[in-house]
Amino acid sequence: MHTTGRITAPFTDEQVAALNSYQMDGRFHPFTCGGSRDDAAHEAARAEHGLPEPGILVARREGWTCPGCGYTQSWAHAAMATPLGVPAAMTSASAPREA
Ligand SMILES: [Zn+2]
Repeated sequence: MHTTGRITAPFTDEQVAALNSYQMDGRFHPFTCGGSRDDAAHEAARAEHGLPEPGILVARREGWTCPGCGYTQSWAHAAMATPLGVPAAMTSASAPREA
């Protein structure tokens, strides 16, 4: 399988955590859905999930999902799936995990 620069679902738990940290960080351009991101459903989803803006996709093992409209996407940039691109201080602060 050729996945040059890209990975496809299903993702591992580690990839899901890294992908979501990228989506939340704000320094990177997040994946967003192609739906009506300004509607009430998207605003409610933004608030519920604590997203920086409406329409940002949330990573799960089975792929990306927009919590506002159900839009899905199965691929991600490979660089987004590794925590190596994110300062350790940020990942440890935002996603404490048991050793
Ligand atoms: Zn959406």
